[in-house]
Amino acid sequence: MIELLQEHERTLAFAEVALGQIRSLSQTAVPRNYEIWYVYATGYNPELNKIINETLRRNGKLTESDLEQIYDNYLSQVRMTDRIDKVGGRVISEIDDVMVLITDALGMTTNFGNRLEGATQRLTSAKDREQVKAIVENLVSATRDMHETNKALESRLTSSREEISQLQQSLEAIRTETLTDPLTSLGNRKYFDQAIEEAVAQANEREEPLSLLMIDIDHFKSFNDNFGHLTGDQVLRLVGLSLRQSIKGQDVTARYGGEEFAVILPNTPLRPAMAVADNIRRAVMSKQLKKKSTGEILGRVTISAGVSMLRPGDDAHTLIDRADACLYAAKRNGRNRVICEADPEYTPNNQIQVA
Ligand code: GH3
Ligand code: MG
Ligand code: MG
Repeated sequence: MIELLQEHERTLAFAEVALGQIRSLSQTAVPRNYEIWYVYATGYNPELNKIINETLRRNGKLTESDLEQIYDNYLSQVRMTDRIDKVGGRVISEIDDVMVLITDALGMTTNFGNRLEGATQRLTSAKDREQVKAIVENLVSATRDMHETNKALESRLTSSREEISQLQQSLEAIRTETLTDPLTSLGNRKYFDQAIEEAVAQANEREEPLSLLMIDIDHFKSFNDNFGHLTGDQVLRLVGLSLRQSIKGQDVTARYGGEEFAVILPNTPLRPAMAVADNIRRAVMSKQLKKKSTGEILGRVTISAGVSMLRPGDDAHTLIDRADACLYAAKRNGRNRVICEADPEYTPNNQIQVA
């Protein structure tokens, strides 16, 4: 009882700290913010406390987008681990149940074997029809028992197979989530890192061309500064959508970092890859941006892109490096353009003069 009371008081104290923070920083008291501050108050998640303290020290406040990022990075990940643990727990308990059942069935089989052996011996010494009949009846009943056990085992194994296949689907859903960028729904950096390794290996194996686009939004910092981070996030979604609409088949799109995107184009040489990049560039700049809530016209955003193609001796790293150097050249040469490694403007990264 005393323990319960202490727990009651302790959790109330955390709740009060959480609400106090929400009040003093004038935040909305929605569950997400409450959860962030509650966990902050408990101190259970030191990384979360560290990032909050740092942001407050730097900016004196936490914006909606700070809170969203903190939640995504420090709390929803925890939930993901919990979910994986739960699925793992269910798999283990399913296996335990089935093991018990199989052990029982094995016992039954041994028992059946013994009964068969006993019957064979008794049959050789049976004196009359009555004795033979009794032995046969005993055998029939043993066989019936065995049949029942097998049926039960079979039906339990069937339901176990269904359960395991559901668990597999849950794991697959979790896996997809860990590889998806929540803002744009494109693949995230982890997904890209895996996909580019696979694409390079496949291109080498099949002796097919492979191209890579690295894309970066132009002057995005000033867009954010002028219209706010949340509106900036909408633009990231829009660019993500333009990417998705410009690719086909086995092409892969991913959010590489903050406002950088990557497109992997298997079985595509440099010139067609340039055309894809230019389609994306034109699709993005063709959109007149308007703030939904106020109707305010925000103008347009543009992107720059760099394009590289796999060469003999390349690995994922060198391919990315050259696409990046092309992107850098596109920025240097005025932005809102696509530059590939065959263009005269391209300078390899290690030959760029610093001042
Ligand atoms: P440049 O044309 O040279 O690329 O200029 P830039 O301003 O786009 O480049 P810089 O690297 O200086 O700034 C990138 C900006 O992207 C900084 C940050 O405000 C913004 N950004 C990065 N990630 C996000 C995000 O998740 N959401 C929003 N809204 N903005 C982001
Ligand atoms: Mg950038
Ligand atoms: Mg940029």
